[in-house]
Amino acid sequence: MGVGTVWFVGAGPGDPELITVKGRDLIVRAGAILFAGSLVNEAATRWAPPGCVIADSKDMTLEQMSAWLIANAARCDTVVRLQTGDPALYGALIELVQPLDAAGVPVAVVPGVSSAMASAAAAVESFTLPEVTQTTIFTRVEGRTPMPDGEDLAALAAHRCTLCIFLSITLLHKVEAGLREAGWPEDAPVLVVHKASWPGEERIVRGTLATIKQQCREAGIVSQAMVIASPTLGARQWPELIRSRLYDPSFTHRFRKATT
Ligand code: SAH
Repeated sequence: MGVGTVWFVGAGPGDPELITVKGRDLIVRAGAILFAGSLVNEAATRWAPPGCVIADSKDMTLEQMSAWLIANAARCDTVVRLQTGDPALYGALIELVQPLDAAGVPVAVVPGVSSAMASAAAAVESFTLPEVTQTTIFTRVEGRTPMPDGEDLAALAAHRCTLCIFLSITLLHKVEAGLREAGWPEDAPVLVVHKASWPGEERIVRGTLATIKQQCREAGIVSQAMVIASPTLGARQWPELIRSRLYDPSFTHRFRKATT
């Protein structure tokens, strides 16, 4: 049986240039690539070598995907499973790794730029600000996948930290309800980024708890979008910002002596 390794590679959020150098190098020498839908197609086809077997997993079941990966690991050294963003977030990583473990196929993971980070970059926002919030939660609202106890949005939003809400653009009514239940005001800023980092296709919608659903409806955004609710949003325009201690002249740390 096979000696090849199956590499789970984060393809990044959409811009083919946002794959890591390591991820690209693996594609360049891959014998087989299984990619997850149109999102990561471009990175696969741009760098795959001639003769590389490339398949789209969008119509495959989990069993078919693992069978495909195992079969290809039997005949080539490098098999790549290309996933959007980072493989550790909403990517069915463990469901795919378990059958490979059972088949004795070596597995490795290469991280990727998550769409959460690409969305912050697109909008020039920071998830953390000194004395505003120092915490970011990656979550979703309940769709067909149930939310475990204690993880409904209202409970998480009670922390008043940054919330990156995946897989929820068609469920904005639930996002709104969760934020309201946690006491977020109607004018709390909410950001939606559609196709973050996609060249020429990225769209940024800035609204509030009261307006964001209508704005997204008017913009026709119904998929591939990140919803971010955070007390840090819009800080670029704040007249007074509490500066990070790290860069404060009066703060001494390992690399710099205080000057005041
Ligand atoms: N592993 C991926 C997430 C996969 S779940 C990651 O780390 O980004 C799919 C969800 O990710 C989508 O419903 C959407 O909320 C978000 N998403 C993926 N690509 C995106 C992009 N380019 N812009 C905005 N949101 C994106």
